[in-house]
Amino acid sequence: MKERLTTPESMACLHCGGDYLHQGTVEVFWREQEDSATGLCARITESTVELHTNADTNNPSLRRQGLRIRLKCENCPGVCWLTVSQHKGCTYVALVKATDLEEREVCVEF
Ligand SMILES: [Zn+2]
Repeated sequence: MKERLTTPESMACLHCGGDYLHQGTVEVFWREQEDSATGLCARITESTVELHTNADTNNPSLRRQGLRIRLKCENCPGVCWLTVSQHKGCTYVALVKATDLEEREVCVEF
């Protein structure tokens, strides 16, 4: 039996290795059904709550539900996303670098 992620661990910035990451925008994706591009995407920022019907764009899961949390590094200008995605019944957790395109689309400061 796997015993990963059973205790809290800090994450390190993928750009500089620093471990002061501040949580920002949270996005939750809920597909109408498996592989559906439609459904709901709830985006929560510092001052807004948005609800969209596109469950495909930026969803870390290619086929099912997902969520992601924007993490801004305190030590460098780097931004990462903590993602949770489902694929074929398994749930995956990952930390990925934000792309320049994502940063232009989100443009949220903490
Ligand atoms: Zn950093």
